Amino acid sequence: MNHVLRDLGIQAVNSGGSTGHQWWSLQGDRPIVQSLNPATGETIAGVSPCSPEDYERILKDSMEAFRAWRAVPAPKRGEVVRLIGQALREKKDQLGTLVSLEVGKIKAEGDGEVQEMIDMADFSVGQSRMLYGATMQSERPAHRMSEQWHPLGPIGVISAFNFPVAVWAWNAFLAAIAGDTVIWKPSPKAPLCAIAVQKICNQVMQQQGFAGIFSLFITDEPTLAEQMVQDHRLPLISFTGSVPVGRRVASAVGQRLGRTLLELSGNNAVIVDETADLDMAVRAIVFGAVGTAGQRCTTTRRLFVHESLYDQLVAKLIKAYAQVRIGNPLDPTTLMGPLIDQAAVHGYVAAIEEVKKEGGEVLYGGQALTRTGHFVEPTIVRAQNHWPIVQRETFGPILYVMTFRTLEDAIAMQNNAPQGLSSALFSNDVRRTGQFLSASGSDCGIANVNIGTSGAEIGGAFGGEKETGGGREAGSDAWKAYMRRQTTTVNWGTELPLAQGIKFGE
Ligand code: NAD
Repeated sequence: MNHVLRDLGIQAVNSGGSTGHQWWSLQGDRPIVQSLNPATGETIAGVSPCSPEDYERILKDSMEAFRAWRAVPAPKRGEVVRLIGQALREKKDQLGTLVSLEVGKIKAEGDGEVQEMIDMADFSVGQSRMLYGATMQSERPAHRMSEQWHPLGPIGVISAFNFPVAVWAWNAFLAAIAGDTVIWKPSPKAPLCAIAVQKICNQVMQQQGFAGIFSLFITDEPTLAEQMVQDHRLPLISFTGSVPVGRRVASAVGQRLGRTLLELSGNNAVIVDETADLDMAVRAIVFGAVGTAGQRCTTTRRLFVHESLYDQLVAKLIKAYAQVRIGNPLDPTTLMGPLIDQAAVHGYVAAIEEVKKEGGEVLYGGQALTRTGHFVEPTIVRAQNHWPIVQRETFGPILYVMTFRTLEDAIAMQNNAPQGLSSALFSNDVRRTGQFLSASGSDCGIANVNIGTSGAEIGGAFGGEKETGGGREAGSDAWKAYMRRQTTTVNWGTELPLAQGIKFGE
């Protein structure tokens, strides 16, 4: 463990604040934030959190850096991001290991997260030459109309524990090529991952003469996080996390008429119809429901199976679940690591109790494990869609199974949930897949056919509808969220005609 931290430039007790210029030691008396290994419960390191004065200093530095950064040509900004992507390639193994250590993801998923950052850097480099605006036909003679995109300013990024590095990269690289500076408030459950990323960035930025573009603001105090959210000097707050906290953030930013980009909870479903390739469906469902111990926003939480296939599919799932090795996330044979903390284990246990009271039948698992660390069994429960517990996101590996007769019914049940992130249909019937993808089909931000609900590529815009918050990040035209659109009209003639043909004082 120590060599990983050393390779990433982290000392055992570190400062929580960085403006990208330097690290400083905090003298304050704020309690140290403990970084804990969820597989063992042991402390990995202590991190000194920021004070309100630190926040003010970080913000001022970020504003100053913005004034210079916005004037740097976008392709040059892309070049800096390219170099950060390169530095991440060099540290992929160590950073992937740190993700596993600090949040309990298996090593393959920890590495995958860093790969996602690298992919995002590559994508952003290309995008830096494609910040396109449209041209329009003016109704007035000798006039030209067009739109252009300008940077927004310093933006705030608040991230969840379960994607401790990739979510930052989705936001930060696009924001950087757009000309914004970024202040990151990571989850206090994953401060070391954030420090490691900041250190990698600092090194590249200092070498390139652009210190201060990315900054880190570590706190575990909601009131300090709220100070950031309420700060009108941050035109955009990108928030990834749960619905209750997202609601507070949206309302606080809305009060000051700022912008939000919200990536909140999911309650994702897979539908398996009677023509589906069952083996493919089983693999996708197990990865979606058990991967990351059910702690992904896109985790498969509900399964709607055609009634004729219920027995067969459940039998195959139980067989597959029995082969899932639970344990140390750094062991290459492990498929499922721990939950993030004991509160998450309590949430899992409470959900199982509630669904049983409703009449749910536990088909597999259902127990917290009594070993060291925060381990639980992957669980399958026969349930009903309208039960309150099924309508909520429990952040753990619980899969609720339900049956249907017609695809219309399955789609209606899938859409009958407050959240709208990811959805999937397994079918080999072209008409049914068309129906699922039509305007009267899935109401989610992501709709997949013969692919599970989790594991999105960065090339598409990522995000969800309804309580998931409506934000879109990563690919497609998500870059627009980090810029302001300006419509410009130039009169190159000698008359001053008014729009709508209005005559004024003539
Ligand atoms: P959380 O809501 O508890 O915390 C998210 C972040 O908000 C953390 O950085 C936390 O410190 C901060 N925070 C807490 N109180 C705050 C306040 N009052 N004001 C501002 N910030 C505050 O979420 P979590 O447990 O870290 O993550 C799990 C949740 O995140 C799940 O619901 C999951 O679905 C969601 N998530 C969504 C996506 C997505 O893209 N849709 C991705 C990852 C996680």
